[in-house]
Amino acid sequence: MALDNETLTLLLDAVRRFVNERLVPAEDELASTGVMPEGIVQEMRELGLFGLSISPDYGGLGLTMEEEVRVVFELGQTSPAFRSLAGTNIGIGSQSIVMSGTDEQRNHYLPLLASGEVVGSFALTEPEAGSDAMSLRTSAVRDGDHYILNGTKRFITNAPIAGLFSVMARTSQERGADSISCFLVEAGTPGLTLGKPDKKMGQAGALTCDVVFEDCRVPASSLLGGKEGTGFRTAMRVLDKGRLHISALCVGIAERLVRDAARYALERKQFGQPIADFQLVQAMLADSQTELYAARCMVLDAARKRDRGENTTLEAACCKLYASEMVGRVADRAVQIHGGAGYMAEYAVERFYRDVRLFRIYEGTSQVQQVVIAREVLKAHR
Ligand SMILES: Cc1cc2nc3c(=O)[nH]c(=O)nc-3n(C[C@H](O)[C@H](O)[C@H](O)COP(=O)(O)OP(=O)(O)OC[C@H]3O[C@@H](n4cnc5c(N)ncnc54)[C@H](O)[C@@H]3O)c2cc1C
Repeated sequence: MALDNETLTLLLDAVRRFVNERLVPAEDELASTGVMPEGIVQEMRELGLFGLSISPDYGGLGLTMEEEVRVVFELGQTSPAFRSLAGTNIGIGSQSIVMSGTDEQRNHYLPLLASGEVVGSFALTEPEAGSDAMSLRTSAVRDGDHYILNGTKRFITNAPIAGLFSVMARTSQERGADSISCFLVEAGTPGLTLGKPDKKMGQAGALTCDVVFEDCRVPASSLLGGKEGTGFRTAMRVLDKGRLHISALCVGIAERLVRDAARYALERKQFGQPIADFQLVQAMLADSQTELYAARCMVLDAARKRDRGENTTLEAACCKLYASEMVGRVADRAVQIHGGAGYMAEYAVERFYRDVRLFRIYEGTSQVQQVVIAREVLKAHR
């Protein structure tokens, strides 16, 4: 464990209090304005949320995976757009540097990411390369002490506010993982421009947009790890970890949804009694609680396995598939338990129903998780 038990309990209590006292009351405003209150961002920085997964050597908390998912179970109890702000620094925006950066890259960028002074973004997806990420076209051509980047990245989380992009680009025209490298590109570099923020189904306040590279010259020192051809494998390792983080988030949100649905069922009366007395309503709560408990157990088990240094490609994909589909069903039942009120924006379940739809799509769709799981199973039994 990175933290002793007492310190972990204090951290979890602090995050729970922050979620209940600061984030939950700000949910409606974030949903209607799409603007993250600066005071809240500062408090997230002070709590250390941006640096959960970055070593204390660089100013982070250096949590183990188990500790990280426990924190995310708490963070999930509110609008996921809040988590999304720090989420890239905890996961896909920092982990490529943690895993594969040179000492110089780590020393320079990790303290900035851990403190939240800089927001990191992970730019893999392109208009023509989503699930088939290896077919990406963004190119990086060596030119003396520089590389020149050309291409477009799509749906990039936190891009509108990012200070640093981990950009996957092709350094060779061959097919295969060895032809893709990762570059650390700072916002404001000439030749890097941003599209307009995307209009999305949910998670208002969590921003995405296109990131466009047109003859964007970056120094050769921005090549991650100083080595060409390692970017794709690093990206896949980053996603293995990210999938556990997203799965934990799905569990946290499901807990909130079951709580909201149970409270509503106890208050709402029909036929002269609380709807919670009806067994058909109870069945919806029971199914949701059972599924969320199963996902919670899966996530904790996989996180512990990862902390033991074992490969968790299979488990991370199982968790992401199950937990993201689970929270979709739980949100659907929560709306159903609310009846007509569940369709109204006044109730949080309406918003969560839209917010959670994303989890089955990004960091690998459910179908991609199935492909990964089947590949790993067949590999083991061939
Ligand atoms: C809000 C949001 C934030 C995002 N943030 C980021 C980010 O920060 N960085 C980043 O790089 N990307 C990001 N993405 C992109 C995201 O990871 C991709 O959208 C996702 O991987 C799917 O790719 P696609 O949209 O091109 O869909 P496609 O790959 O075109 O898939 C369309 C459908 O075909 C199915 N499909 C595709 N291939 C197969 C197959 N082999 N077998 C079976 N079914 C298949 C898919 O499951 C899906 O149902 C984000 C997306 C969204 C919506």
